[in-house]
Amino acid sequence: MARIVMKFGGTSMAGTERIRRVARIVQRQQAAGHEVAVVVSAMAGETDRLVNFCREANALYDPAEYDVVVASGEQVTSGLLAMHLQALGCKARSWLGWQVPIHTDGAHAKARIQEIDSDRLIASMRSGEIAVIPGFQGLTENNRVTTLGRGGSDTSAVAVAAAVEADRCDIYTDVDGVYTTDPRIVAKARKLSHVTYEEMLELASVGSKVLQTRSVSLAMKEGVRVQVLSSFIDDDAPAADTLPGTMIVSDEELEELEMERQLITGIAADKNEAKVTLTRVPDKPGIVATIFGPLAAASINVDMIIQNISKDKGETDVTFTLPRADLARGLAMLEARKDDIGFNRLISDSKVSKISVVGVGMRSHAGVAAMMFKALADRGINILAITTSEIKVSVLIDEDETELAVRILHTAYGLDAADEAA
Ligand code: ASP
Ligand code: MG
Repeated sequence: MARIVMKFGGTSMAGTERIRRVARIVQRQQAAGHEVAVVVSAMAGETDRLVNFCREANALYDPAEYDVVVASGEQVTSGLLAMHLQALGCKARSWLGWQVPIHTDGAHAKARIQEIDSDRLIASMRSGEIAVIPGFQGLTENNRVTTLGRGGSDTSAVAVAAAVEADRCDIYTDVDGVYTTDPRIVAKARKLSHVTYEEMLELASVGSKVLQTRSVSLAMKEGVRVQVLSSFIDDDAPAADTLPGTMIVSDEELEELEMERQLITGIAADKNEAKVTLTRVPDKPGIVATIFGPLAAASINVDMIIQNISKDKGETDVTFTLPRADLARGLAMLEARKDDIGFNRLISDSKVSKISVVGVGMRSHAGVAAMMFKALADRGINILAITTSEIKVSVLIDEDETELAVRILHTAYGLDAADEAA
């Protein structure tokens, strides 16, 4: 017997038929002898709809009231799932964020979970009752409802799993696991049986939107074993206990499994960045701070940065990337400080894409970056910027070459599935 937290996303909860299927999956886990808690999202599209109502009500809406409105989507699905479970003959009840309670800080619309009172939840699970908990919501110390930021139900699930000391947190979604790359781009992409927390964090932050990044950091910090798997399965599909999805585990657990590690675990593409270049910036101390200080103060996250060596007149070009959504704001700020910074031209390009290769295998192997540069060069793909971390190499390229680059690299690092399996 194990204690399992199961989480179902918005697509899995969208409508009566789908909730009924979810109820059957939950019932099966309980019938296998486990203690079960379920965390649910709102029906797909519902949170967007509710956010719109807030905007229509008042462009400068009160975030505390926004939370009251948007938290309701999960209240609906948690009650409905409890009803479906009861209809199957299971004991089940919903536990709203304030009933558990799930304590958060007071940062409305982006609250962080501080503590979960798990005693009553555990008692309920032990008695054979299925605890159904709406994700995304919590309670401040002043008894106001909060929400955790978009996609926050994943974080709720991991936090509940940590609080009840679950053996596993199964995140059911509309894909059957984490892939070496986006299967829509590369038909030969393979499902990974395991991935480490750090790899998942890098892959999540560069565009593989399977899990909210924060939920992965929390799982890593709390040591929660997370499985990503599909809720779109038949009644005779392999049981979740046989780990049909992708397990997110620690480096140590991976080593114990003695799995043959590929050099690279996955490849991600991110089309959400834009490139900015300032030409002929004076090459003297403090200039880079003059450029990036104001951007940081405006919460604009700069990612890749390149500064060329000084040309003859003590001038240099500085190139960097920022989120596309912040490009206009960033350019306006720089233009306004043109005299302080002393640049000549401000050039921007939003048709760029960041390709990242990720894998813990590169810690112990040289040549991962060189292999990437060579594979891209062989196909005439120009690299505009480069960054690296311990387990990631990223390059910026022309957006039009995204799919080609991902395919080339997938093959170059030997990630393509064998033909018969593809
Ligand atoms: N319903 C919320 C959202 O759409 C939370 C979640 O589904 O994770 O962002
Ligand atoms: Mg989600």
